[in-house]
Formats: sequence, structure tokens, C-alpha cells
Amino acid sequence: MTQAKAPPSRSKTPSGLKHTNCYICGADDARLAFKKRGRKVVQCRRCGLIYTNPHPVNETLFDEVYDVGEKYRAKTDRVTKPGRLLTYRRLLDELEPLRETNRVLEIGSGFGYFLSEAQARGWQATGVEISPFSTDYAKRTYGVESLTGTLEEHFEALKNSGPFDAVTLWNVFEHLPDPLGSLRQFHELLRPGGVVMIKVPDARALMRPRTPGQRLWHRTYLRKYFPLHAHMHIVHLTPDTFARMAQMTGFAPPVIHDHIPAEERPTRNWRQALRHRMHIALRLPYNFVAIAAKI
Ligand SMILES: [Zn+2]
Repeated sequence: MTQAKAPPSRSKTPSGLKHTNCYICGADDARLAFKKRGRKVVQCRRCGLIYTNPHPVNETLFDEVYDVGEKYRAKTDRVTKPGRLLTYRRLLDELEPLRETNRVLEIGSGFGYFLSEAQARGWQATGVEISPFSTDYAKRTYGVESLTGTLEEHFEALKNSGPFDAVTLWNVFEHLPDPLGSLRQFHELLRPGGVVMIKVPDARALMRPRTPGQRLWHRTYLRKYFPLHAHMHIVHLTPDTFARMAQMTGFAPPVIHDHIPAEERPTRNWRQALRHRMHIALRLPYNFVAIAAKI
């Protein structure tokens, strides 16, 4: 899913918000963790899941965030594409031993960078992406198969076309309005032993500053720079809460590792470089990658 614009500043009390119970345990028993950009991020007292509540509904998100255009694409190509390609090559290395059907499905395939890298390695790669501008660009530029719309809209056709080795979501899972329902759908699309692989912001960074250095960083910078995006992220996952979701939906306990983009993304912006160095020096979580196999 292409992530782009900041929400319009006028939308301080947006209409498209929906209250939900905890996605894992179903309880309506959460404490306010903090507010960001007018949105409330809460933590379930029963199971510890962190989520935005009330959360933005899909239509609002599309209008405000995902309906991207040429200006955003040009900036993404210039600023973030080189780093993303490096990341995708690493992630594809991890998928390599899993090839059987040779099919990979990316949810939220954006401008097609991952699909194009996967295709270059011989994968039969398919993307689903909500933004028509993005799917159009991906098809024209990289000749990749990118379907416009939601997974629900394409689910039956994808299922009938045969099982996938992997379903991947790169900084997309946290946007999904029904995370368990989506995991069940991925499960249906996978071959036995196939995997769902996600990369998401690691919410442990928000909740557990342990050392004085981390506390200082947390107070002064982290809440400002960590990719929380409460205006469009619905769940804020930790390795533990994702593992519970995976196990509730028919997957084996996931294999999880940290992912700090700074390690592979040199930048000439000194402020950004300093932030990256602080993250690494203080060993703060930033993103994590999880791979869970279908049982
Ligand atoms: Zn809960």
C-alpha cells in the first residue's frame, strides 16, 4: 500500500472513524497509551495489543492518504527507492529457499519496486494495490502484474489461480482494518508450508524505554520520528502480538528479526543520519520482519 501524504490539517475531527474492540482478545478494555496527530493509541489491558482506536475507515484513508499522484511518486523514486531496493533484495534472499510454486503475492505493491525485483529473480510475482495511479505506473514502468483494488475484490480469482509460496506485506499489515481476517485469507492462498512475511514498525520502541538513554531519546525524538503514523496505522505490532495473531490463524510460530533500514540506507541528510545512528547506538527497535509458515 502506498503510504504518502500527511492528512489534511483541517481533518482534526475526521468523520470516518470507527471504534473497535481488541483485535486479538475481543475485549473492550484498553488504556490510553498516547495521542498522536489527534488519534488515540491504546493498549489492551488483557493481551497487550497496541492499536489506534477509534481507527480510520478505508474510504477515509483512501481519500486522505492512499490516493497518491505523480508528485509523490517522483519524490519516492528520488528519496526512498534506492534504500527500498536494497531492503527488497535482502528480503528476497530470505524467500529464496521457499520456492516451490514459484509464485509470490505482494499486498500493497505500490509503485511495483518489489514486484520488479522479484520478477527479475524469476518469481511469478503478483501485486494487489488500492491506488490506481500506482498500479498503472507499476504496469507501465516495470511490466509487472499489479491488480487494482483490495484483496477481497481479487481473492477468488487469486485462489483459483493456484497456491502461492509467499504472501508479503512491506509496511502494509499495520494498515489493514481486519488483521486476523486478512491472515486467514493469506492462509487460504498459500501452499502448505508457504509463508506470510511482513515488515512492520516495531511498537516495542514506543512502549518500553528501559535505559536512561532510551528514555531521553523516547521523550525527545522517538515519538516525533518513529513511523507510528497513527492517522493510518491501525495496529501497532510487537513480535509477541504478531506471533499471537499468526498462531490464531493457522500459522506456525513466526521467525522474527529486527530490521533497521539505516543499516543499509546511507543518507546525505545529516539530521536523518544522526537519527539513524541514535537508533542503532541505543539498540532501539525500529521495524521487525516476521515470517510465519502455514501449518
Ligand atoms: Zn486484547
